[in-house]
Amino acid sequence: MSFYALIPAAGSGTRLGAEVPKQYRSLAGRTILWHAVRAVCVPPVESVFVVLAPGDTAFARSDWSAFAGKLEPLYCGGATRRDSVYNGLVAAMDDIQADDWLLVHDAARPCLPQKDLDKLMREIEGDEVGGILALPIADTVKRVSREKIHATEDRSQLWLAQTPQMFRAGLLLQALARAKGVPTDEAAAVEQLGLKPRVVAGSRENLKVTWPEDVAIAEGILRRRK
Ligand code: C5P
Repeated sequence: MSFYALIPAAGSGTRLGAEVPKQYRSLAGRTILWHAVRAVCVPPVESVFVVLAPGDTAFARSDWSAFAGKLEPLYCGGATRRDSVYNGLVAAMDDIQADDWLLVHDAARPCLPQKDLDKLMREIEGDEVGGILALPIADTVKRVSREKIHATEDRSQLWLAQTPQMFRAGLLLQALARAKGVPTDEAAAVEQLGLKPRVVAGSRENLKVTWPEDVAIAEGILRRRK
């Protein structure tokens, strides 16, 4: 059984407000996507599939030489994250086995610490279902409608889902094929099968670059590591 990673990178990232899609935004001298690839392109991960929009021209313009032979671009992204992961996984199944582990990682998480990735692989490898990095919520959580607070939620059982999300390729394929609605992460599709993925506590450094101010925070984290 082997480990592979898959990065859906076919989104447009409109909340960031930049002209280029978020994954190609520059961060500490490279693109956000480059840093996300670097974070998961480490042993024992054998290769990294990157799912791109069919008309993507930016990927081929970047320098990927640091990952020579371990990176496979797939130009089959879809309308939603679920579609991009599903299409990419269907294509990747030519190279991988149903019981191989697949780590799905957001292109927008360039600062995943290696220790979090190692911990996820170590703690989930023996699990029947699979699991994800996540963070217990520290802030008080409000339910809001039209800028008015309608309720305060009990945060004691609430976690924020991060990536990587680690599942056996065959199980994930089945879950995504049957998923109803638009699951916003892989675990949600697996949950719909009645299964219970595990959570592994990650860290706040693994932020998802979403809003304009996230770029400076992510840059600070990466520069400090150099
Ligand atoms: O938009 P959001 O930040 O939720 O996207 C999460 C990840 O899913 C990003 O890596 C983004 O590129 C990817 N995505 C995709 N195809 C889409 C939408 C999002 O690959 N249609």
